Amino acid sequence: MSRFLSPRYEKLSPYTPGEQPKTENLIKLNTNECPYPPSPGAMEVLTTKEISSLRLYPDPSATKLVEAIADYYGLEQNQIMVGNGSDEILAFCFMAFQNDERKIYYPDISYGFYPVYSSVFFAKGKAIPLDENLKINIDDYKNLAGTIIIANPNAPTGIALDPEEIEQILRSNKENLVIIDEAYIDFGGKSCVPLISAYDNLLIIQTFSKSRALAGARIGFAMGNTEIIQDLNRIKFSFNPYNMNRLSILAGAAAMRDVEYFEKCTGEIQKTREHFVRALKKLGFDVLPSSANFIFARNDKISGEAYYALLRKKNILVRHFNKKPIEDYVRITIGLPSDMETLLAVTEKILEGEK
Ligand SMILES: *Cc1c(COP(=O)(O)O)cnc(C)c1O
Repeated sequence: MSRFLSPRYEKLSPYTPGEQPKTENLIKLNTNECPYPPSPGAMEVLTTKEISSLRLYPDPSATKLVEAIADYYGLEQNQIMVGNGSDEILAFCFMAFQNDERKIYYPDISYGFYPVYSSVFFAKGKAIPLDENLKINIDDYKNLAGTIIIANPNAPTGIALDPEEIEQILRSNKENLVIIDEAYIDFGGKSCVPLISAYDNLLIIQTFSKSRALAGARIGFAMGNTEIIQDLNRIKFSFNPYNMNRLSILAGAAAMRDVEYFEKCTGEIQKTREHFVRALKKLGFDVLPSSANFIFARNDKISGEAYYALLRKKNILVRHFNKKPIEDYVRITIGLPSDMETLLAVTEKILEGEK
């Protein structure tokens, strides 16, 4: 820490991203990226001509991308805003929708960025515990006094709520903004987008990083009532009007329009997941019911930490959180079928005692 840092940030503990290894011989199942490449259309639009246009600023409204999202979801363009990853939009939410009287509520076991944003933007963050089955108890979110953020499906558990359950939260919080982070919704959960027309207190955030294979392009988007979208744009245009680069706008729009490829990839990942979960259970693992592109599992025969470390030794990277009550679990991203076969074979040996 330099002597110049504002004392306000002395206690800040930054988000720890999953490891991004420099070597290529690893099976990388630690940050929930897509194992398939981006839509072929998304790659074709990145021409030399577009690259030479990088001398120009991008469209601050990212209109092409917003149009593609609006078409896909049947929304108006003024119900959508895009950000440099959904992380940026979440940051805007933590700037815009809290103050001393308006807390921000989120599950205690959820996306690690919520508490970090809470501290960097001096929000009154309040973490609500999951139940004993690591599920969100919707009754805990009724009639609160502040903004609510729920990841659906939740991470790192993978467990999804039904839109009917989220509707109960929306109905009992008419004076509170309810933000649903749908980073993993395309892997089997039901989106709350159809609820936008009925609830002006709903904001949905999605990302191109998981189901659309564009984590490196940094594209997220928010959908909701036009006034909430205006609020987010008020922050965006006070912070970084050019938050979306030219190439990501083009690639994102093309990926959004390639519905067939998107459905094929997300379908494959779900098939691989179901197959993998059955095999893990045969090896004695408890696996939480996942609607995401990852699973959360534990095995009585080995600690989460030891299993993580032994997989690492065999060049397989998964995620372990050293935090109660989930320290027994590891989170495993669903990769290619062959990745999962390798992981299963290595796991079998680990359970037999191989170090
Ligand atoms: C990955 C993830 C995000 C962030 O995605 P980016 O768009 O890559 O910033 C947001 N929320 C959850 C729950 C995630 O897992």
